[in-house]
Amino acid sequence: MGILTAIQRFSLHDGPGIRSTVFFKGCNMRCAWCHNPETLSFTPEVLYYQSKCVGCGACAAVCPSHTVKNGKMVYDRAACSDEGRCAQVCFSGALETCGFEADVQRVMDEVMQDADYYARSGGGVTLSGGEVLLQPEFARDLLRALKARGVSTAVESNLNVEYSVIESLLPDLDLVMCDLKAWDEDIHRKWTGAGNERIKRNIEALGRTDKPMIVRTPIIPGVNDNPQEIAAIAAFVSKLPNLMYYELLNFNPLGESKYLALDVENAFSAARPLPEDRLGALADAARATGATVRVG
Ligand code: SF4
Ligand code: SF4
Repeated sequence: MGILTAIQRFSLHDGPGIRSTVFFKGCNMRCAWCHNPETLSFTPEVLYYQSKCVGCGACAAVCPSHTVKNGKMVYDRAACSDEGRCAQVCFSGALETCGFEADVQRVMDEVMQDADYYARSGGGVTLSGGEVLLQPEFARDLLRALKARGVSTAVESNLNVEYSVIESLLPDLDLVMCDLKAWDEDIHRKWTGAGNERIKRNIEALGRTDKPMIVRTPIIPGVNDNPQEIAAIAAFVSKLPNLMYYELLNFNPLGESKYLALDVENAFSAARPLPEDRLGALADAARATGATVRVG
């Protein structure tokens, strides 16, 4: 069994071709800008989208952590047992339980519906998150089942685990996508809650395999949006013989509604994507190291 947040079909941004993306729940890093904050905890959580609330009171009837005031529900999260009964009776979609257990067969039943699209587009299935490698047995069984059906597989990972965990999945993986979010150890630790030494070691170790790799850096205003940081990462990854390309991902502010729905502060709520000229200058700094660079 794995714990997931979603299975997204017809995804175009999580690897080549048309893909399905399986989002694992739970992460061992805390990137201050994470645009999937609902994937961080390993347990199911209730999201509350206040704009969708019609004030019907159905949730209050099943759980005392909900009250309705002035036509809108007020949610006392501290009193919530997270059983998700409220979401089951909320027909407006204002309350939603995020996180469900699934076995390999349940995931396969869903993703194999698009097998023809994968084959025709050069796509496949990507395991993402959250952090996939924190549920290694489930990930391995799922990857194995996909390969047995001839589906191309990829993983998106922070690589912040022991290398033996990564190695155990390699036989059933066609592509590894990973992030290196900052070169400077202090910057990385300050903004992600984790050091980057192990991540760098794992990237180097993967570079000694024949597994195609894509390394990415999300560009975060005030954190790593300077040519020194980006050039240092690019110089490092340019030495990987199996690197397909190094990708710069402009800042993505789309997580804001989820932070509000989880009632969690978003440290980057005011941040915006970099303008094209600044992003272009970072890409130039990366290309000057000899790396093959894409801007996403
Ligand atoms: S059940 Fe949903 S729509 Fe009704 S009061 Fe609760 S949150 Fe609002
Ligand atoms: S590693 Fe990914 S999922 Fe985990 S906190 Fe960072 S951005 Fe979010």
